[in-house]
Amino acid sequence: MLKNIGLVWLKDDFRIQKNLALIEASQNHDQVIAFFLYKNKKFQNQEAQKWWVCQSLKEFRSKLSKFNIMLEVVETDSYKSFFEKLFVKKNFSLYWNKTYEPKYIEFDDFLLKNLKINKIKFKVFKGNILNEFNEVKKNDGTPFKVFTPFWRSAEKFYLEKIPFKQKSITKCKKKISYFKKTINEKDICPKKNWFKKFEKIWVPSEEIALKELKNFIKEGLENYSEARNFPNINGTSKLSPFIKHGQIHVETIWEECSAIKKNGATKFLAEIGWREFNHSLINYFPHMLNKNYSKKFDKFPWQKNSKFLSAWKKGMTGYPIVDAGMRELYSTGWMHNRVRMIVGSFLVKHLLINWKEGEKHFRNCLLDFNEANNVSGWQWVAGCGADAAPYFRIFNPILQGEKFDKEGNYVKKWVPELKSVPKNFLHKPWELKNENILKLGVDYPSPIVNHEQARLKALAAFKKI
Ligand SMILES: Cc1cc2nc3c(=O)[nH]c(=O)nc-3n(C[C@H](O)[C@H](O)[C@H](O)COP(=O)(O)OP(=O)(O)OC[C@H]3O[C@@H](n4cnc5c(N)ncnc54)[C@H](O)[C@@H]3O)c2cc1C
Repeated sequence: MLKNIGLVWLKDDFRIQKNLALIEASQNHDQVIAFFLYKNKKFQNQEAQKWWVCQSLKEFRSKLSKFNIMLEVVETDSYKSFFEKLFVKKNFSLYWNKTYEPKYIEFDDFLLKNLKINKIKFKVFKGNILNEFNEVKKNDGTPFKVFTPFWRSAEKFYLEKIPFKQKSITKCKKKISYFKKTINEKDICPKKNWFKKFEKIWVPSEEIALKELKNFIKEGLENYSEARNFPNINGTSKLSPFIKHGQIHVETIWEECSAIKKNGATKFLAEIGWREFNHSLINYFPHMLNKNYSKKFDKFPWQKNSKFLSAWKKGMTGYPIVDAGMRELYSTGWMHNRVRMIVGSFLVKHLLINWKEGEKHFRNCLLDFNEANNVSGWQWVAGCGADAAPYFRIFNPILQGEKFDKEGNYVKKWVPELKSVPKNFLHKPWELKNENILKLGVDYPSPIVNHEQARLKALAAFKKI
């Protein structure tokens, strides 16, 4: 046992299981404090996530309390100045799990250097990922840019590492507080009340994440490969916000699923693989966080149109499947993957608006927002990412709706103005021409662009680059 205090820097790690930093600190010290640094600037454009973090802090504090570990929230403008002040104290050892975003990886370098200079003991652990992003490389040492070979190699590499020795958290001797100035998590919660709806849908906790995984394995895994395309059914796990905030470790998902010989398991784990791939991409090619991965798109003639952008955000484009998706996002903080692709394609191809606008809006509204998946998802849709959908493949929102929401139940749920519209007109209500059922332009908007004309315009724009 070490005599000093164990401090655990908690980021996206709201779990006990496989929380290596927390487990190790609890085994090495009689007194452990977990602390969360709240940087207002970081959350400025991530309103939905503030709600999830606020709930998670509250839930996790009471859980840690059973192990005599205090969870403290400290507000800071700068991680650097926070740690510089902390280093002066020297009465602690520092533990943390890695976060795979370039700015955090860079900050780890700062921490490592200064902890050594100040002779402070520390331990840093693998975060919520199967492989460290730089462990999976091509034979020539360069990073993968295409998913399939990446995942083949990543899976093999991961399999060679397991089984791991499981460790568990130890109850500490004494619960103490450490930081003089702390804040209440309530101060983090968004001021606008729209998130009240989230409370009816989500319970941010480790237990719920594990329960959801078990339910999904029982009910959804077998048919996942097909069912994952249909937004009106529970065909996917909805684990993404839990994964993002670390309520479940992807290794746990792997362990629970890889042993199961159901058809969907391979496909499901490959989606976890896309998450690994995206984390690898943003770390090897960090320019893609705010620029096009593919430089030729730098010359793309994007258009600025605040009217179109606002109609898209509000779910008022006149294309039912697009509007349903955007309203699902606003109401629940989540959107089905198929629909993310449809609404994304509509923004960048039908409206010719830069993918960065979409990325920004998703960042603000998604409970599962993470830089790697969001930026890569948007660049995949726009055609400018690594291993992306080709730009010239333009989703037809009418056909997508008819194929993946055949009965129109998804659209009727989120766009109730259309609930009396007969099935064969649900994805193209402008063809109905029956004002007794729907007054187009009054009850529901006319399409803001004509699909065929927009498609040709997008192809012409693409030709320019
Ligand atoms: C434009 C766009 C933006 C996106 N932004 C995000 C984001 O900010 N955060 C996020 O987690 N995902 C993002 N995705 C990926 C995907 O839509 C979500 O991960 C998925 O819809 C989450 O639902 P689920 O948990 O039910 O997924 P499931 O189908 O149950 O998949 C299980 C897990 O695998 C991972 N996963 C699934 N699909 C993908 C994918 N296409 N790419 C990477 N990982 C995947 C997620 O961690 C997910 O929770 C985005 C996709 C697009 C097209």
